[in-house]
Amino acid sequence: MPKPEYLNYVGGEWVEAEKGETYTVINPANGAKLADVPKGSKADAEAAIDAAREAFDKGKWPRMTPGDRAAALLKLAALIEADMDRLAILESKNQGKTIKQARDGDLPFSVDNLRFMAGAARTLAGSASMEFAYGATSILRREPIGVVGSITPWNYPFMMDIWKIAPALAAGNTVVLKPASLTPITTIELAKIIEKAGLPAGTVNVITGPGAVLGEALASSEKVDMVSLTGDTSTGKEIMRAGAANVKRLHLELGGKAPFIVFDDANLEAAARGAVAASMVNGGQDCTQAARFLVQEKIYPKFVRRMVELLKTIRIGDPLERSTDLGPLVSDKQREKVEKYAAIAKGEGAKLEIGGGRPKGKAFDKGWYYLPTLFSDATFDMRISCEEVFGPLVTAMSFKTEEQAIEIANNVVYGLYSSVWTKDVHRAFRVANAMRFGAAEINEHLPLVSEMPHGGYKQSGFGKDLSIYSLEEYTNLKHVFVDMTDADRKPWHYTTFGDPL
Ligand code: NDP
Repeated sequence: MPKPEYLNYVGGEWVEAEKGETYTVINPANGAKLADVPKGSKADAEAAIDAAREAFDKGKWPRMTPGDRAAALLKLAALIEADMDRLAILESKNQGKTIKQARDGDLPFSVDNLRFMAGAARTLAGSASMEFAYGATSILRREPIGVVGSITPWNYPFMMDIWKIAPALAAGNTVVLKPASLTPITTIELAKIIEKAGLPAGTVNVITGPGAVLGEALASSEKVDMVSLTGDTSTGKEIMRAGAANVKRLHLELGGKAPFIVFDDANLEAAARGAVAASMVNGGQDCTQAARFLVQEKIYPKFVRRMVELLKTIRIGDPLERSTDLGPLVSDKQREKVEKYAAIAKGEGAKLEIGGGRPKGKAFDKGWYYLPTLFSDATFDMRISCEEVFGPLVTAMSFKTEEQAIEIANNVVYGLYSSVWTKDVHRAFRVANAMRFGAAEINEHLPLVSEMPHGGYKQSGFGKDLSIYSLEEYTNLKHVFVDMTDADRKPWHYTTFGDPL
């Protein structure tokens, strides 16, 4: 029998799931089978955890110099870069995202993220070496945390893998990586590239299978020191409960419902184009998606009209065609969720401006497509204005004053991304500062850079991805206190016994 193409990668070996079970991964553009992958059990998670534990406690990776770790990560980045055309096609076939987004966005950005972290690995210095007490020196060390369980979502499968493993590895940790069940293909491909790059066995382990089993095993294991998740807020809460077992370090990047505030004086054309780009990105399956358009009353009708005109130009179709702007949703379940929210919006009295259903035609029969959809005249208290949809369906509403816009924008449990559009520089800064969100952009919505942190406030979670702040999340800070006097009696001993010196 030929070896299956997709296996788990544990302790440097390619292995089937313990019981030999597999499940089928589907192409969301046509419902066709893409591959069979291992359906891991608790025992598989435990084997991967043991491999990562061994690699951390006794292996080479945590004991390498930062420079050597950086060199290994740069090699990995080069191998990924050389393979981007193939990986982008696999990502598009598995996730449904357009090839232009996968090839020109996710993959090159992942390579850049990895290169940034490789460089940052060499900057992990403690910030203080000083005498803060009698004849003693204090030193700060940043040390790896240990075994990190990384649990990734289905919206940016490869890129999220890199956001998780790059800082973890740069800091000297070892990893068990579990991709979302819907989109495991490029994660297993990443494991193949990691093997090729020569990372020591057990440094990165990849297991596929149900989150409720494997993710739960990672979150509750006493041998895992940290869990990092990007996913739903409810999953984050489950992991917090399970992680309490050994007071685990947690890093949670959860849901979002980003406000996009447009004032009367904004460049309307730039705002409308920005609105379409930032709401339809990745089929709207993006936690930073511009989902709530708050538009000042004077330009509100014109803004909605222009947004509708632009949404009409979105080309929906086969994600592998470079001319396609919008592919299918990731799964039938996700499309059903979007359809449910369309019904909720209608029931709540929001006005359907465009879309609101599946595209017609033979080309769309077998895939999980949904039209670009805008509801106007929403109010702040509607469910459609507060709950995460995660699809190409967004809402617009008008407001009167700056204070009102701020209040409505902040009136959600989420706090990941926000933007304000205006030419008034004073107002731009006032509103950006008032946003209870981890990011506030001015006259732009979406761009991320490797150098700057990404992460939430409130129920969007805590812990930063990207940047030096992400690297710090994956380290423990240690204070080393060094007596330099060799004195038998120290000045403070009398507080416990005897008299002052
Ligand atoms: P999940 O939060 O369930 O999935 C994210 C990851 O967590 C997957 O790898 C999943 O594995 C894993 N997981 C699931 N249950 C557990 C558990 N009990 N313990 C540990 N890990 C677990 O998201 P869904 O796929 O269910 O999507 C639901 C909604 O979540 C979406 O509609 C969207 O609103 C939101 N979402 C937000 C994302 C973001 O970027 N913030 C990303 C993805 C979804 P498995 O796939 O095997 O279940």
